[in-house]
Amino acid sequence: MACEICHDSFWVTDLVDGVERVRRCGCWRDSIIERQLAAARVPRRYQHCEFANFEQNYDSLREAHRRARAFVEAFPVGQKSLLLRGRHGVGKTHLAVAILKHAIRDKGARGYFYETRELLKLVRESFAAGDTSEMDVLRPVLDADLLVLDDLGAEKTSEWVQETLGLVVNTRYSEQRATIFTTNLGNGAGLDDLNSMRVQLGERTRSRLLEMCHDVEMDGPDVREYGLHPSAADTARYEREREQLERQRRGGTFPDKAKGMARASLRRPAGPADVAWSGGKGGSA
Ligand SMILES: [Zn+2]
Repeated sequence: MACEICHDSFWVTDLVDGVERVRRCGCWRDSIIERQLAAARVPRRYQHCEFANFEQNYDSLREAHRRARAFVEAFPVGQKSLLLRGRHGVGKTHLAVAILKHAIRDKGARGYFYETRELLKLVRESFAAGDTSEMDVLRPVLDADLLVLDDLGAEKTSEWVQETLGLVVNTRYSEQRATIFTTNLGNGAGLDDLNSMRVQLGERTRSRLLEMCHDVEMDGPDVREYGLHPSAADTARYEREREQLERQRRGGTFPDKAKGMARASLRRPAGPADVAWSGGKGGSA
């Protein structure tokens, strides 16, 4: 809708002591924010996500909500990034998107949302197509004031995947740019848990993440399964199921290959300039 004050020219003329003065219309800032929100790549299914409609039906979710608000209030001043960890459906992406939108709206941040799998696909495609370089694809990811990297570890791991994600994590760390990571990976140090940051991301990236982030564990009933307002009985049922899942997970068997990769990553020393990235080539196979 056209602005009634400036008719979308974004300029207003005032008469001050008989002299015409031109200034920006108030709608100018709004239009910039609108453009930045539209450019932030938030998927349609998450566009409604705000702090206000985040369901806090569990202690750890209330704590995660508090952390997320504190993060965006302090942004961009000296603070840790956030690692939102928990199983699917617990609201990690919802909270990450709420943070991103607030940072854009209230702080004028240049921020982007990337689903990890989608990002890796873009890097691979740019290598295959040959018209844009992999670094062109990664540039906004590395440079953004605020980055949401969603569902870290959803991609089947490989040396190339670990190196590419390591490059993103390390660059953002060394440039002191805030990042919101979401993942359903565990943070444990064991090698026998396939669904762990150590196995999926490698030990260097795991330790870097834990160093640069507040590790925020989110736990609670899956809203898609239990609805938005689970009863006390629902919550008790959820807790029983969770214990059962945890037992199965611990008792599971894992392919030797993944264990081997985790061990290999342990042998490499961690350091500030520890990323050797071969580009998109390794991901195109
Ligand atoms: Zn206007």
